Amino acid sequence: MQIPLDKICVKSGILCPNCQAKIDKGLYEKWEVDVMKVLVELEDKIKGLRDVNYKKSIVFDRKLYIILENLGSHRHELEKYLREKLRNFNFDRIVLIEYASNPKELVYKLLANVEIKSTNIYYSPDGIVYYVAKIPSYEKPKVDEIGDSVKRIFKILTRNDIYFEFVDYPKYKKINEEEKIEQHIDANQLDKLLKQI
Ligand SMILES: [Zn+2]
Repeated sequence: MQIPLDKICVKSGILCPNCQAKIDKGLYEKWEVDVMKVLVELEDKIKGLRDVNYKKSIVFDRKLYIILENLGSHRHELEKYLREKLRNFNFDRIVLIEYASNPKELVYKLLANVEIKSTNIYYSPDGIVYYVAKIPSYEKPKVDEIGDSVKRIFKILTRNDIYFEFVDYPKYKKINEEEKIEQHIDANQLDKLLKQI
């Protein structure tokens, strides 16, 4: 397991100035040290975990999301062990996310349960790069819950901002209203006809 902090520091829980600085800068939360520690300890149990690269963990919606690179075929085994080992953390669920170096791909992985219509890259005149994900407005409640965390982790991993644009889809609402009017007219005409008889 490759981790961004020193293994000695993570195992002992006593951080050297280098590791402490990474936490002080906000690159990693202090509790992530415990997550990294469990992952490093699992190296002995799960072969092939040595090549997996820890990127970041975040918590939202009472779920712990662990972002890992080169996760490959170890997902289910790792999830099973982590559920046992991290039981004390009181999360509803532990979700492993495969890291993607392509920011567009990463958006889809971070918003795994949200329908996304498209993700596009934009360049502002002052040279800032940002991304916009177009999402149907009916998905907004889900994004309201997790959006801030997704934005934060996206920024940490790509150094870019992501914005969500909610797009309305009128669907068949208009047609239904027209149908109602037609039915109304028909009923009136029928009423007139009936009175004439
Ligand atoms: Zn250290």
